[in-house]
Amino acid sequence: MKHTDISKVLKEKEFLGKEVTVCGWVRTFRESSSVCFLELADGTSFTKLQVVIDKSKIALDAECTRLGASVAATGEVVKAFKGDGVELNAEKIVLLGKCPPEYPIQKKRTTLEFLRGIPHLRLRTNTFNAVFKVRSVAAQAVHRYFHERGYYYVNTPIITASDCEGAGEMFRVTTAPWNAKAASEEEYFKNDFFAERAGLSVSGQLEGEVAAMAFSKIYTFGPSFRAEKSNTTRHLSEFWHIEPEVAFAELPDIIEIAEDMIKYLIRAVLNECPDEMTFFDNFMEKGLKDKLNHVLNSDFAVCDYTKAIEILKEAKADFRFPVEWGSDLQTEHEKYLTEEVFKKPVFVTNYPKKIKSFYMKQNPDGKTVAATDLLVPGIGEIIGCSEREADLDKLLSAMKERGMNLDSYEQYLDLRRFGSVPHSGFGLGFERFVMYVTGVENIRDVTLFPRWVGNVM
Ligand code: ATP
Ligand code: MN
Repeated sequence: MKHTDISKVLKEKEFLGKEVTVCGWVRTFRESSSVCFLELADGTSFTKLQVVIDKSKIALDAECTRLGASVAATGEVVKAFKGDGVELNAEKIVLLGKCPPEYPIQKKRTTLEFLRGIPHLRLRTNTFNAVFKVRSVAAQAVHRYFHERGYYYVNTPIITASDCEGAGEMFRVTTAPWNAKAASEEEYFKNDFFAERAGLSVSGQLEGEVAAMAFSKIYTFGPSFRAEKSNTTRHLSEFWHIEPEVAFAELPDIIEIAEDMIKYLIRAVLNECPDEMTFFDNFMEKGLKDKLNHVLNSDFAVCDYTKAIEILKEAKADFRFPVEWGSDLQTEHEKYLTEEVFKKPVFVTNYPKKIKSFYMKQNPDGKTVAATDLLVPGIGEIIGCSEREADLDKLLSAMKERGMNLDSYEQYLDLRRFGSVPHSGFGLGFERFVMYVTGVENIRDVTLFPRWVGNVM
């Protein structure tokens, strides 16, 4: 269909005084004795286009006035009667698709909870238009950031035989029929498609390291799958994962990269989504833009895990989970550190090796590893990061301590046998970043069709 995006009509001066056709969905309808006003949205811009219909010239089909109906409107672009924008003086309105009153999105501001029940329609609201604009702009900025700095973009496998975290929270991939009968696990997998246990990848890191040992700087940006039963506002079963892996980088180097990348992404969103960010500032999180500008203009804090434990022990807060050196930080602890103590993003470094993964570089103290999590206000952890153990013997001993099956990691171990180098990487949960910059509090509201335990609609 020959038509013009509403975003162009609103922004580009060249359309003023010209005739255009726009297509979209009716967002509001008002009328007076002599004119009607249709607000049209086609999703290409946050702002809608007002279409003015002179009743003496056009007999408007009542179906065109219904909320959610789709129409094509042709007319002249003129200076708006009010404000400094433009509007469309309609000469012709064509109904494309009717929308009966059962259309569930009726009021201007429906709750996010209600909208979660209609994921196929909720994208037509202002909030979701703004969220997905920001998400799209941020995704482009991720690629731009790494591309401009010479990283190779690699695609690591989604179906995999290795569970990167060893945590056993992998979804199984199988072709076995639902009622498959097998005498043993071994027999079951022998008859399966790959003739061994396979699952959906929880992280592209191990394969990312393979690529970094050849190309120095790589990143992946793809889906990760975790069958964890965490029914929280920051966990999904399927999320998008940004994972750079950098050779010849030690922990301080990768921390610098992570901070630089986060700031780059924030800047891109503020520059490219001004209307959306103002909307979030007004309706989602008061002071959001100030918060982000403050983040841009200050250094992220860095705090040793041991120090963080001391701070938490002295805190005058009622934590549900105990604080003890050697245990993992819970969300409440993470939020306390970043919201109450540092009041900005903070890297917590050098965690106890017992609570972290086998591949993390062991510190000389024998107790901690060169790992860091980036915590941000409102969410807690958004990045998990570490320098990787580059020493074959140390890596082997960490794997044996954990009772891992060394045979299935031969290729990974080869990276330490043949030209091993210091290297580091991190994983940023893309949805958590989008939550952080929009102020949206539930991860299910920054994802098209969120999946979580018991929910795959
Ligand atoms: P958490 O402690 O919050 O469960 P994690 O430590 O298990 O996270 P990592 O294995 O370090 O997560 O993964 C790297 C990043 O991926 C995390 O910092 C987070 O941003 C994101 N992430 C991890 N699990 C999920 C999930 N289930 N849903 C959305 N994002 C996730
Ligand atoms: Mn983590």
